[in-house]
Amino acid sequence: MLSCYPCEAVATMAVLQGQVALHWAIPFAVSPLPELFCASGHLSFSVPEGRRRVAKYDVAIIGSGPGGYVAAIRAGELGLKTLVVEKDPFLGGTCLHVGCIPTKVLLHHADVYDHFKNAGELGFEIPGVKINWPNILARKSKIVTKHAKGIEFLFKKNKVEWKQGWGRYERPGKITVEKDGKKETIEAGGILIVSGSEAKALPGIEPDHKTIVTNRSILELPEIPKTLIVIGAGAVGVEFASIYNSFGTQVTILEALPRVVPVEDEEISVELEKSFKKKGITVQTGCTVDGVKKDAKGVTVSFKDKDGKPQTLPAEKLLLAVGRMPMTANCGLEKSKARLDRGFVHVNEFMETDEPGLYAVGDIVAGLPQLAHAAMMEGIVAVTHIAGKPTHAVNKLRIPNATYCEPQIGSIGMTEKQAREAGYAVKVGKFPFVGNSKATILGAHGGFIKVVSEEKYGQVLGIHIIGPLATEILSEAAAVLNLEGCIDDMMNMIHAHPTVWEAMGDAFASVRGLQINV
Ligand SMILES: Cc1cc2nc3c(=O)[nH]c(=O)nc-3n(C[C@H](O)[C@H](O)[C@H](O)COP(=O)(O)OP(=O)(O)OC[C@H]3O[C@@H](n4cnc5c(N)ncnc54)[C@H](O)[C@@H]3O)c2cc1C
Repeated sequence: MLSCYPCEAVATMAVLQGQVALHWAIPFAVSPLPELFCASGHLSFSVPEGRRRVAKYDVAIIGSGPGGYVAAIRAGELGLKTLVVEKDPFLGGTCLHVGCIPTKVLLHHADVYDHFKNAGELGFEIPGVKINWPNILARKSKIVTKHAKGIEFLFKKNKVEWKQGWGRYERPGKITVEKDGKKETIEAGGILIVSGSEAKALPGIEPDHKTIVTNRSILELPEIPKTLIVIGAGAVGVEFASIYNSFGTQVTILEALPRVVPVEDEEISVELEKSFKKKGITVQTGCTVDGVKKDAKGVTVSFKDKDGKPQTLPAEKLLLAVGRMPMTANCGLEKSKARLDRGFVHVNEFMETDEPGLYAVGDIVAGLPQLAHAAMMEGIVAVTHIAGKPTHAVNKLRIPNATYCEPQIGSIGMTEKQAREAGYAVKVGKFPFVGNSKATILGAHGGFIKVVSEEKYGQVLGIHIIGPLATEILSEAAAVLNLEGCIDDMMNMIHAHPTVWEAMGDAFASVRGLQINV
């Protein structure tokens, strides 16, 4: 007698041509081995007699980052028997341990320190403010640990099991988990690979994690460096540049492309570079790094500037922030029909690979941005599809981008250039935060909101924000893009006063030349 997971009934073993039929808890459409049904209509499959027993799940998820743990919780909520396999002894992945969360803790501390430094402007006298770096690092670790435990709690609440070990795809419906030389086989109806990404290195520049650091090792520096070179001006590079600039480090950014935050609208890049220069962050764009020499004092980076002139620059520390590569090696994908492109996995609109029943989610997916919230939604789509419930495709143009440098950047949809290249008759509006009273109260009225729309119906195509609370007021931008709203809907919506958010109303109105506050 064997039990069937979804109906929890005890079913009779059926012996068929030398095989034992086991009940299987997945919908018919996704089963790799359709052969039998249990009394409740759940699909069963067969296992050759005498084969050793293996654990059986509806869904097995390799990786517990935001893509994996959110997928697991939703799978649990949908009643699927779910297992997460994680190589590390803790849950949460890059985002929780070395990405989104620890960096935002440091950014918050940097922001508080900026307020202390500018206390005079706010009418306070705070002499002798000192940074206690070990205490800041300890608070960061405490927050990370608390949230990792929070994921464990949510797993228990939703009956999600997890196992530490290296997960590997073996064949349809089967993965192995390896730990301390022991290998276990797991059977699952749907398999999700959510193995994430790691920092790319530059050829010939190997991080030693003491002087040449990555996003991971920079979080463990025992002291704040006096000087720091950041190679790469994408989201990770500009975030760390902001953090250390606030803490008093002399920061230089070296970027190969002609502008900082190159995926953003061009005007946003110009504004950020202007603002960074004002804060004392040196930015060199269009330059090529030739090599790095280490010495007792730190590093010397040799590079060619944008005019091709050779330069050298010394610093105590060097951060490599030149992008992230997918961690798909040694995950068994070569044994599947999944299509890979330089390690990135191609999927359909439900995150399913070319191997039926095998899904890929998060930073390893080809053509989607490497963002935690994108990974979360992709995971939800994948397990909802496995559960046989209606779901929607992830639309790249509806994924918000949040860059937490100072000033913050929030954007969604098409840039002005992309909209023109897509053939739209484009109409643009722009509202500067200098006209927003709450921004003035906060002492942060640099930056603007830019709205890209199509001329005829005023459909909003993209919104690009740089300035105070940009990553928060981005919520309205995401809603209007998702609901396919138009300029006139949005400029007639009442925004609360005084808020930074109300600048959105002025920005929409500026497309029609009807803004009030500038
Ligand atoms: C410095 C930094 C700051 C960031 N800030 C933000 C931010 O503010 N907002 C945002 O949206 N995004 C941010 N990101 C990006 C975000 O962290 C990633 O997009 C997100 O973590 C991707 O989620 P994931 O689940 O795909 O992978 P990961 O979070 O990388 O998780 C993958 C997990 O899989 C495990 N794993 C890998 N291979 C195996 C295996 N074979 N077996 C078992 N386990 C395995 C890993 O140990 C890991 O736990 C930041 C990234 C960095 C580096």
